[in-house]
Formats: sequence, structure tokens, C-alpha cells
Amino acid sequence: MENRKTLIHWFRKGLRVHDNPGLTRVFEQANSDVNKYEVRPIFILDPGIVQWLKVGANRWRFLQQSLADLHNQLVALKSRLYVVRGKPNEVFERIFKEWQTELLTFETDIEPYSVKRDAEVVKLAHQLGVQVDTHCSHTIYNPETVIKKNLGTAPLTYQKFLSIVEKLKTPMPLPTPVALTELVIPQQDKWEQKDEKCYDYPSMEELVKHPEELGENKFLGGETEGLRRLEQSLSNETWVINFEKPNTAPNSLEPSTTVLSPYLKFGCLSSRLFYQRLTDILKKHPNHSKPPVSLKGQLMWREFFYTAATDEPDFDRMFGNKYCIQIPWEMNDVYLDAWTHARTGYPFIDAIMRQLRQEGWIHHLARHAVACFLTRGDLWISWQSGLRVFEELLLDHDWALNAGNWLWLSASAFFHSYFRVYSPVAFGKKTDPTASLSAQKEYGCVLGEDYPHRIVVHEAVYKINVQRMTAAYKVNREVCTGKFEKEEKKSTAKRRMKDSEKSLSENKKSRN
Ligand code: FAD
Repeated sequence: MENRKTLIHWFRKGLRVHDNPGLTRVFEQANSDVNKYEVRPIFILDPGIVQWLKVGANRWRFLQQSLADLHNQLVALKSRLYVVRGKPNEVFERIFKEWQTELLTFETDIEPYSVKRDAEVVKLAHQLGVQVDTHCSHTIYNPETVIKKNLGTAPLTYQKFLSIVEKLKTPMPLPTPVALTELVIPQQDKWEQKDEKCYDYPSMEELVKHPEELGENKFLGGETEGLRRLEQSLSNETWVINFEKPNTAPNSLEPSTTVLSPYLKFGCLSSRLFYQRLTDILKKHPNHSKPPVSLKGQLMWREFFYTAATDEPDFDRMFGNKYCIQIPWEMNDVYLDAWTHARTGYPFIDAIMRQLRQEGWIHHLARHAVACFLTRGDLWISWQSGLRVFEELLLDHDWALNAGNWLWLSASAFFHSYFRVYSPVAFGKKTDPTASLSAQKEYGCVLGEDYPHRIVVHEAVYKINVQRMTAAYKVNREVCTGKFEKEEKKSTAKRRMKDSEKSLSENKKSRN
């Protein structure tokens, strides 16, 4: 027993026990030889990062709840979560040696910061004779495989992306691993002997430095809640099969979409499980909505942006980003502050920004409205400024998805109909009529008297901004637009051909 080797699974995202190939690998190996191995699932918490990273209180709370839940899930499998405090390279040097580590497993990540950090950890592991086994389990498809199939570059249009993944085998989610045998549980190491609680998951106080900023806890973090929410969302099959994103409301009192995004972001829920459960339902109902607007289509948007981001380390910035049209945005601190703190004078825009700060989640079309308003619609401020506010406040903030969608909304990449601008008044009214004068008086908030004046006149500024976009596009046309349009046309033509061949052969069959 003395010289047992340690098998480590390193949690970063992927905070779950279901469909977790790295965790399954260490559990299986340990159970195969109880005299030889012990298992330590770890999460590394860098106290320096907790101090300086600009992350809102609501997301820290979500992480704290997710770690607490993960610990409980692991206890149920006769293990536990070891939260090791420190910087990853220092932590690994220590635990590789002290724990006599034989194997390290983890889920791959595409964010440039993580890619660099992971490369350093792998190098250290190899120097110390530790095997490393990595798995791609954050997305349904491996972005690298999609890029390879597209001859070395990411597909630039959604249709092209779909045409590639339709030919790939969809990986099935793994079940939760079999619990560990009692004998595999590690003895206390020298740090635990000094302080039994040194590996405990963090308390709220350790993570949430500004508790006064916490809003109502509408979305509890963790795998248990993620799975419950998945089942609840899929329980109404009629809703699932008829789901069309443009027909969901950005301003309903309760969310009109699944709100599974925070669970997918932290990996409390596996996208492959979501996809499989969805596929099972759609198989039973041949008449269902289709991508891009269907629920499956939403998951494919996630895959699309992940693949594009994998192929561009500067995905979250304008300069040096090969997809991004260069637009001469202007700095305006007064406007940016008004947008960020919900004081634009447009109730629809301000309500969305207040909801973002208080609850950490806003509907997709609400994100459209405020992103368009900040950039090409009204304020002519760089999408990167908006991206940073979302990065701080969203529960589901995700490097690839936040940047991909800001690129889209600002018509900097992927979407080019920049002349289609959301009205910050009419758009909201479609699903929620404005309060009448008597209602405004009743609630003591009369527009123009108690409510801030509009910082810009939409009807005037959007026209000027469309002209500015036209000018920017002229300069960039050769560089970007042509490439996107050509690819879109090619793949649409191919799909049409395929569809007509299919219906021809179906017609033939039915005639026979
Ligand atoms: P549902 O409609 O129920 O969709 C199911 C899942 O599909 C989502 O949970 C999400 O994982 C995925 N999905 C849906 N729409 C998109 C999309 N357009 N792009 C990528 N994936 C999608 N989503 C994030 O997860 N993280 C972000 O940081 C993020 N930033 C955004 C920034 C802007 C400016 C905009 C316009 C959108 C952003 N989105 C982001 C995409 C989208 O708004 C959210 O994924 C969605 O609103 C989450 O709500 P839901 O889980 O109810 O979605």
C-alpha cells in the first residue's frame, strides 16, 4: 500500500462526473488494480486570480456551487474533490512528486491562455515521468477534426459547417464511472496531516469578494441542477420539436429558452448528452423544426463558433483577427458608461443591461438588441468594449461564444447585412408593449420626467452609422466579404443539390 501510484484527473471546465472521459479513465484504471493505484480528482484554485480577475459576483457564486456539487457527486462515487490552492505550474511540480503520480488526465481547451498553460503542464509532466491523457469533451465534435475535414481551415459559414459535421460520426456520451473500490481511497498526505481541510472546496467567502453585488440566485450552479434543468427543458416534447429561436421572447418574465448555457459553459452538463437526448426526441417526431433555428441548431451554433475560434487565437479582438472586418470604431466613455450601467434613456436597452447585472443571464435576442445598440446601431463603440462587459457579468461567459457572437452582431464577421439595424424601441415592443402613460404615473416613472433622456436619437444616428459601415466594408470587401459569400453560395448550392437528389430518390421509391 505504501508505494501506490496516484492517478490525477484535473477538472477545469467539465465540472461533472457524467460523460467525462478523463475521469472515467482514472477510475477504471484504479479499479483494475486496487493495490497499485489511488485516485485524486483535483481542481486548482489560484488565490491571485480570484483577487484580480474581473468576474462578477454572480459567476463566482455559480462556480462555488458547481464545485460543492462536484465534490458531492465524487463522494457518491467513493472519492472526493481535492481543491489545491496555488499556481498550476507550482502545484503540479509539488503534487507530481509528493503523490508519486503516474497519470494525469484532463479535458482539452481551445482558449489561448489555457493552451499555453496546458503545454507547460504537459512539458513538466513529461520531465517528471508522468503520462498525460487528454480528451476533447467540451464540444460535441472535436474542432480540430472539423478543421482537418475542411482542408485545414475552419468553415466560415454555418451551412458549410453543417455539411461537414453531418458526415462525421457523432460521439456518444459516456455514463458516470463505476464508483471506486474502498481500497483505492488515498491516505492523508503531509499537508492534510497538518490541516485536514486544506483541500476542501472553497466557501462563498473565499470566492465572492463583493457579496453586495449578488443578485437573486435564479440559476443554481452544478451538475445536479444542470441535469435537472435538461430534463425539465426536454420534458415538453411539443415545445422541443417546434422550437424556433426567432419566435422566443427576449423580454418574457421567465426565460423562453432553456438557460442551459451556464451549465454548458462550466461543463456541468455535457453537450453530447444534450445532443443525444434531443436526437432521441426528434427521432420520434419526423415533423420538427430544423437548424439554424431549432434547438439542435442552437447547439450547432456553439460548435460552429468553437471551430472558428480554434483556428484563430485572436478571435476576441479586431486587430490581427483574420475573420474580422476592420471598422474605425470610436471611444466614448460617457456613452459606454451609460450603456454599461443601464442609463441610455431607452427602457428596453436599460432593462436588459440591468437584468444582465442582477441575474447574469439575458435572452439571445436581448443580447442582439444591446450589442447592436452599442456598436453599429447607435453608439459606434467597439464590440470589444461590449465583449468585456459581457465577460464580466454573464454567468455563461465563454471565450469563443462571446467573441463569435459579438463579431456577428457588430457585422464584423460571419454576418454582413449591416444595414439591418434593430430599433431599440420597436424591437422590444413586438413582445412587450410600452407602459401606458397612466401605468407610468402609477409606478412614478414617467418617460422624459423621471427617466433619463435618450443619450442619442436612434432615428438619426443609425443612418449615419450605416454609411460608416458602408465605407468600412468598401475598404474590406476584397479581404473578407468575397470569401464568405463565395463559400456560402457554394455550400448552399451543394445542399440544394443533395436535397433534390434525396427527394427524387424518395419519389422513385414511393412510385415503386
Ligand atoms: P438556448 O436557446 O436554449 O440554446 C441551447 C444552447 O445552445 C445554449 O445553452 C448555448 O450553449 C447554445 N447556443 C444558443 N445560441 C447560441 C449562439 N448564438 N452561439 C453559440 N451558442 C449558442 N452564449 C454563451 O454560452 N456564452 C457567451 O459568452 C455568449 N455571449 C454572447 C454574446 C452576444 C453578443 C450574443 C448575441 C450572444 C451570446 N451568446 C453566448 C449566445 C446565446 O445568446 C446564448 O448561448 C443563449 O442565449 C443562452 O441561452 P439558452 O441556454 O437559453 O439558449
